[in-house]
Amino acid sequence: MAYDVVEQHLEVALAARVGAPVRESRLDCIDCDDPISESRRVAARGCVRCSACQTLHEDRRAQYAR
Ligand SMILES: [Zn+2]
Repeated sequence: MAYDVVEQHLEVALAARVGAPVRESRLDCIDCDDPISESRRVAARGCVRCSACQTLHEDRRAQYAR
């Protein structure tokens, strides 16, 4: 969860640096189509996955990195 927030902040910072517009959070998850809670959309701006799918996504990525 903490990593997710850090990543989102990093994306926002990078987007700001190149002058790109900050992505809007999606209303539903790109992986499972479940609605993403309003609190998550605000906390993790630009998020595209629900917290469950984001966790899975980062677990997979961590495995590839090994
Ligand atoms: Zn999902």
